[in-house]
Amino acid sequence: MTDLQAIVDDIHRELAPRFGEGKVADYIPQLARVDPKQFGMAVVTVDGAVHLAGEAEKAFSIQSISKVFTLTIALGKHGEAIWNRVGREPSGSAFNSIVQLEHEHGKPRNPFINAGAIAITDLVLAGHTPKEAIGEVLRFMRFLADEEDIVIDRDVAQSEQATGYRNFALANFMRSFEKLSHPVEHVLGVYFHQCAIAMSCRQLARAGLFLAASGTNPLTGHRVVSHMRARRINALMLTCGHYDGSGDFAYHVGLPGKSGVGGGILAVAPGKASVAVWSPGLNRNGNSLLGSIALEMLANRTGWSVFAA
Ligand code: GLN
Repeated sequence: MTDLQAIVDDIHRELAPRFGEGKVADYIPQLARVDPKQFGMAVVTVDGAVHLAGEAEKAFSIQSISKVFTLTIALGKHGEAIWNRVGREPSGSAFNSIVQLEHEHGKPRNPFINAGAIAITDLVLAGHTPKEAIGEVLRFMRFLADEEDIVIDRDVAQSEQATGYRNFALANFMRSFEKLSHPVEHVLGVYFHQCAIAMSCRQLARAGLFLAASGTNPLTGHRVVSHMRARRINALMLTCGHYDGSGDFAYHVGLPGKSGVGGGILAVAPGKASVAVWSPGLNRNGNSLLGSIALEMLANRTGWSVFAA
């Protein structure tokens, strides 16, 4: 039997000399001042075993990892009709790229690049005030993680709002193509708050467990999505979850994953476990440098892969 705790401990110990590698996101002060030498990892298996290493209990800004969960909510509300608003193809460009959007007449390539996530947030907003929509996303995270003390870092949300010129550009651009139904300020208000949710690796791994277990959280018994929907969300994470680094992540790790500029990555080993890692230093694609390496080590040592039995 694989000793997962020993594997997680080994990864933490072996990577320790490299802590601090990569470049911390510096577009807002709240992320720029995060100590780059931190590292946390949590593996939660489908039968409920929890394996932690490093700072697995410390909350960090989940940023774009939130896009997996707003996609799940939007699919629940609107079903497959969401694909009229966003595509399902890898973008091959940066997470905040604007050029592609013009070529494609305001329809973003996929739900995980910023433009696509903003379009998805517009769908989450349907029938709600921004405040209610933010509440819905936060409640969903608490429900999935089965923990009430998950909060939004208001300072992060405010800084994102104050400096989010490019996201405003993307949203205005989509609005000009009539691809957003709500005012840009409302959509981005929700988007910045979902990005500012703070969670620990342990909480995040628990929240993602339904994706590793055919749509049902095996710890609470709650069916979150159907088997087919979980499979499809995983497919999108695999093909689009790391922006223009998605191919590289699939090659090295071989598991669906979603990164955030806060340095977190959620990865899913279907039928086995949900994994969250956090290390704030990013690689050139804006994905956690050591987080990606830690996941590659985990995949190699456990044999977990969606490409091999
Ligand atoms: N809040 C960030 C942004 O919108 C999220 C990007 C990310 O995590 N890749 O720019």
